[in-house]
Amino acid sequence: MPLLPSPPTDREGVVAWVDEHLGHLACDDVRPSPVRGGQAAADAALASLDLTGYATRRSEVYPVQGRGATRLSPYIRHGLLPLPAVWAAAAGAPARDRAEFRDELLWQEYARHLYARVGRATAEPLRFAEPVGTGPWEGEPWRQDMACMAATTAELHEEGWLVNQTRMWLASQHSVRAGRDWREGAQEMYRHLLDGSPAANRLGWQWAIGTGNGKVYGFSRWQVEKRAPGLCGTCPLRRACPVQDWPEAEAGARVEPPAGLAGGPTDAGPTAPQVAGEPEAVWLTAESLGDTDPALAAHPDLPAVFVFDEPLLARLRLSGKRLVFLAETVAGLGAQLHLGDPVDELRGRRLAATWAPVPGFRRRSAQLDVVALHPWPWLRRPGSGSLRSYSAWAGRGR
Ligand SMILES: Cc1cc2nc3c(=O)[nH]c(=O)nc-3n(C[C@H](O)[C@H](O)[C@H](O)COP(=O)(O)OP(=O)(O)OC[C@H]3O[C@@H](n4cnc5c(N)ncnc54)[C@H](O)[C@@H]3O)c2cc1C
Repeated sequence: MPLLPSPPTDREGVVAWVDEHLGHLACDDVRPSPVRGGQAAADAALASLDLTGYATRRSEVYPVQGRGATRLSPYIRHGLLPLPAVWAAAAGAPARDRAEFRDELLWQEYARHLYARVGRATAEPLRFAEPVGTGPWEGEPWRQDMACMAATTAELHEEGWLVNQTRMWLASQHSVRAGRDWREGAQEMYRHLLDGSPAANRLGWQWAIGTGNGKVYGFSRWQVEKRAPGLCGTCPLRRACPVQDWPEAEAGARVEPPAGLAGGPTDAGPTAPQVAGEPEAVWLTAESLGDTDPALAAHPDLPAVFVFDEPLLARLRLSGKRLVFLAETVAGLGAQLHLGDPVDELRGRRLAATWAPVPGFRRRSAQLDVVALHPWPWLRRPGSGSLRSYSAWAGRGR
């Protein structure tokens, strides 16, 4: 039972703690992102949410002060801010901004429905093959002599967060213009993004490169001049811009969609707590690390336990920033921390847990003694309808 000591509460201490206990699992040096983990930071971000102008400024890239994006995503991804709470927090915003923001929350919910239904098949093209007519492209897809690529990859690697607009630039540049395998680009983003999730990351890539919807997003100098005015003026290639014109690539041919995409049952977890015994600990997972986690809230007197999944982390090779974010978060919950395989670490303990819409939860919980299973806080409970089109899916709930 490799138990870890509790991380210190100060930032420097957490970084040193991650370096010592988890550093062997990181893909880079352990350094913190400016975005802090933990419930207090999540609550502060939500409390200061001001959506005025969100609809017009959400896609702005530079200057940074002009951005309308909220940067709530790392907290939403790890369940510190459940989607229903974020939805409610938008109630007082101007109507257009509220509608636009809530539409983005629905994209997150849609990504979760898709992943819950289709699972790992989201790593394969969903409806169309990879774009055709890509390349030839000289050198790295994210060439560092292009100011747009240098600035955005620096943000990805140093801060672990990007606005949606530059995620689209990177995805399109990687796999529409340069013709590289989208899974490699998605994996590199996933390793660094504090909000990285298989569900939303793959959805973002599949929609940017057209495998999800048959529409290829073209990235060119035009978007940089519109969304990041002044950046091209600093570029060594400003008079020989390799993305001056639109890429010529087009969507690939239709492919056989994965089972379930056109409709079928979704395992959405219980609608009410399923209790079959007296739990002795609350098992927290990376999907739900907030203090409103339903299992934690239902069993406030039980010890909480979190396992840094060593075999999984060794495969994923996340950046140190992500590990610091997670350590800051679990430190605030006072959870008992383990390092190892969750099934080995938790075997023989009677657990309470919150159901989570990811295949990994289903697999591990089936091998553990979860005697109290609590419902996932859906924004919209999944049904059995088609998940081929976001707009059709979103429209069904209106
Ligand atoms: C190539 C690519 C990869 C992406 N990878 C991820 C990822 O790994 N994790 C992730 O959470 N999002 C991902 N997104 C979606 C989106 O870019 C981020 O959620 C958003 O930029 C986060 O910033 P924010 O919190 O300021 O968003 P805001 O604009 O403030 O939106 C509020 C919330 O809505 C949700 N949201 C917004 N846009 C989307 C979207 N297009 N898809 C799903 N949810 C959305 C997020 O939870 C976000 O926090 C990706 C998009 C693309 C194009």
